Amino acid sequence: MTRKSTDDATPKPLIDAARRGQKYLDELGSRPVFPRPENVRRLESALATEMPDGPTPADDVLAFMDDYGSPATVASAGGRYFGFVTGGALPAAAAAHTLATGWDQNCFSYTSSPAAALFEQTALRWLKDLFGFPADSEGTFVTGATMANFTGLAAARHEVLRKAGWNVDKHGLRGAPAVQVIAGQEAHATIFKMIALLGFGRAHVVRVPVDAQGRMIASALPAIHAPAIVCIQAGNVNAGSFDPAAEIIERAHAAGAWVHVDGAFGLWARTSPKRARLTAGFENADSLATDAHKWLNVPYDCGVALVRKAESLRAAMSITGDYLLLGQHRDAIDLTPDSSRRARGIDVWAALRQLGRSGLAELIDRNCDQARWLADQLTLAGVEVLNDVVLNQVVVSFGDDERTKRVIAALQKAGDCWCGGTRWQGREAMRISISSWATTQDDMEITFRAILNALR
Ligand SMILES: *Cc1c(COP(=O)(O)O)cnc(C)c1O
Repeated sequence: MTRKSTDDATPKPLIDAARRGQKYLDELGSRPVFPRPENVRRLESALATEMPDGPTPADDVLAFMDDYGSPATVASAGGRYFGFVTGGALPAAAAAHTLATGWDQNCFSYTSSPAAALFEQTALRWLKDLFGFPADSEGTFVTGATMANFTGLAAARHEVLRKAGWNVDKHGLRGAPAVQVIAGQEAHATIFKMIALLGFGRAHVVRVPVDAQGRMIASALPAIHAPAIVCIQAGNVNAGSFDPAAEIIERAHAAGAWVHVDGAFGLWARTSPKRARLTAGFENADSLATDAHKWLNVPYDCGVALVRKAESLRAAMSITGDYLLLGQHRDAIDLTPDSSRRARGIDVWAALRQLGRSGLAELIDRNCDQARWLADQLTLAGVEVLNDVVLNQVVVSFGDDERTKRVIAALQKAGDCWCGGTRWQGREAMRISISSWATTQDDMEITFRAILNALR
């Protein structure tokens, strides 16, 4: 297979892909948000083939994908997808992602791609500033908040044990001083999984009780004994609530502990002058994990880890290998769990450049105002809102557990929008997570009416 010269007669698959992608987005508002079951089945049978013996033209590959794949997708790039915490993709970010696909840079070191390294460094510099971290802190782009939590906690593990006279990189955890790991009862599931992967053991986590909004109760914090790691949260995945950072960080630091923040979406409140107070104090933590594919609205996948003390991250992640040609510049491979990786910093740079500070604040505020509006309408209509709507999250109940489940199923089946179920404070509930740049007031009104219809 050779690359043909690009005269006008030559098919240009990237242009075709972009054209089809744009058409897909343009039509997204007029189809069910969750794909019709027959469209998923149609794709499933079309894919049930063996690996072909010979080649297929790229155009045909793409046409197949569009014909069978597009109708089977979830319309999460549109304005009425409120499941999990998802977000769409800003036009500049999606376009940058497409151009970067053409570039196909390997972003593990400066030498492997100076351009990708420079975009990444600029995006990280802007993010540190947005989240109140010092210019000499370090960071990395990873797949999501899960791996950002892993990265922050790996740096934490290295540093708290180093201070206790132990090199975990060299000797592992066998025979190491015991590390006290503390997290809120409502910490995200990925925190516990990453704690397990780092060898601390889920059963050894001290779980701090939470209040009715899912916030850690600072006065219920146990006595902290270094070496220790305290995990706090900015933005509960159901309620959107924030742990009391200032008080916990002060106590943790007084005891010599490392504080890690899971702020997958909540930390972005800091970028809105109207809502920054929610995140007060989190900037004093030792490491932050957040997502760009959620509220910043860049394409999947993209998470961010920031570590205040650059040396802790470097010590936990650095690598050696003569052929890697490292060391003349800032090499990402020394600061991240991955080696070869895509240039996630480009998408982030493009999103931040398109929005600017004012556009970012407007995006955050608009989604929060939409959540408030919907919660108010639902309350007036007699629906029980279970959380204080401080951010972009609304948690509702439609009565007893069975009824709530039935209403969620009816809403999902109708297809005007998509919201998922959860358990909140011992009850079945529906979560509405508003985190897309594409969500308009019209979308909110359609959603409100769809919920009322599902209730009937
Ligand atoms: C989404 C989320 C995660 C996991 O993030 P991924 O991007 O799925 O890896 C972790 N913590 C919180 C609070 C989240 O909302």
